[in-house]
Amino acid sequence: MSCAALAKPMGQTDKSNRQIVLASRPVGAPTQAVFRTERRAVPVAGHGEMLLRTVYLSLDPYMRGRMNDAPSYVPPIGLGEVMGGSTVSRVVASNLPRYRVGDWVLGTSGWQDYALSDGTTANVVEGLKHPSWALGVLGMPGLTAYVGLLDIGRPARGETVVVAAATGAVGSIVGQIAKRKGCHVVGVAGGVEKCRSAKEDLGLDDCVDHRGDDLPRRLRAACPKGIDVYFESVGGAVFDAVMPLLNLGARVPLCGLISHYNDSAPPPGPDRLPLLMGTLLRRRITVQGFIVSDYYVARHAAFAEDMAAWLAEGSVRYREDVVLGLENAPAAMIGLLEGKNFGKLVVRVGPD
Ligand code: NDP
Repeated sequence: MSCAALAKPMGQTDKSNRQIVLASRPVGAPTQAVFRTERRAVPVAGHGEMLLRTVYLSLDPYMRGRMNDAPSYVPPIGLGEVMGGSTVSRVVASNLPRYRVGDWVLGTSGWQDYALSDGTTANVVEGLKHPSWALGVLGMPGLTAYVGLLDIGRPARGETVVVAAATGAVGSIVGQIAKRKGCHVVGVAGGVEKCRSAKEDLGLDDCVDHRGDDLPRRLRAACPKGIDVYFESVGGAVFDAVMPLLNLGARVPLCGLISHYNDSAPPPGPDRLPLLMGTLLRRRITVQGFIVSDYYVARHAAFAEDMAAWLAEGSVRYREDVVLGLENAPAAMIGLLEGKNFGKLVVRVGPD
């Protein structure tokens, strides 16, 4: 599904605003039935507002949490509300002095063709050859990888770093930064092709397919000196394979637990919490959960400078999985939770 540029509009007209709303709350994995498409008039920018036309919509795993009616670090989406999400848009009309018609803007328009903004959650995207990268390697997922690995994982030259979801938006950047740091880097990914790409395109030393047989044995073989840093994004069977290999003093940046996002009940027993706690205790392991939004103020400037340089010199490579058309966002979101994306998942909603 990866593609580069597109000239044709996809269902986006000047006459109506397609909106994808949350129709019902999923129990377990979301289906198409939890989403509903509505058509409304394109809004008109009033005093102190601008009108944005969505060009790219970011699809991210945290959106699954927002479909539940449960407290989290981001509030739930109400039933009938437009699905939220970060976007890269063009300014169509502006009554705000800081924004001009034609500007590229990183904002939070959500799953719709057009949105009004008062500018409080919008930033002009300047000087990017690929404006959609503001949703990925140069945006939230890139910063997540940067602070999670460098500030929390603190990898040292020669250490072994294991990264889950190794070809995804966050994981692909984690692995490449760890290589820059001189680590032995092992990815875990779903499928032969993703593992090939982790080694050949991203330069990882090894990659283990979590869908194959006997993951614990194959991961052990790929990490002969144990694991010093485990960048956790998935949980479940991958964490079970990692835990026995964690070295004394290992660090585990706890970024996400995507294999559990569709859970509707606690996993079946036995209760292995004592085993986990005992391992953490005896091996003096640090597990630290983190949320990227806590790091914007302190770390965004350094991240933006470093990442731009690494991309320019070619030591970090970036892959997008571009889905064409807003109407395909629900299927793409469902697929994200099944590992169907290959790289950062974005929806091309309209033409440049
Ligand atoms: P990705 O681009 O990595 O896409 C998700 C990937 O997760 C899939 O491609 C798949 O990769 C893997 N996956 C999906 N379902 C399962 C499953 N059941 N078991 C194992 N793997 C699965 O997404 P992101 O890079 O955007 O996000 C990665 C993680 O980081 C998520 O957990 C997300 O919630 C978290 N995150 C946390 C942030 C924070 O502030 N803490 C900020 C941003 C992201 P594969 O096919 O290789 O298994």
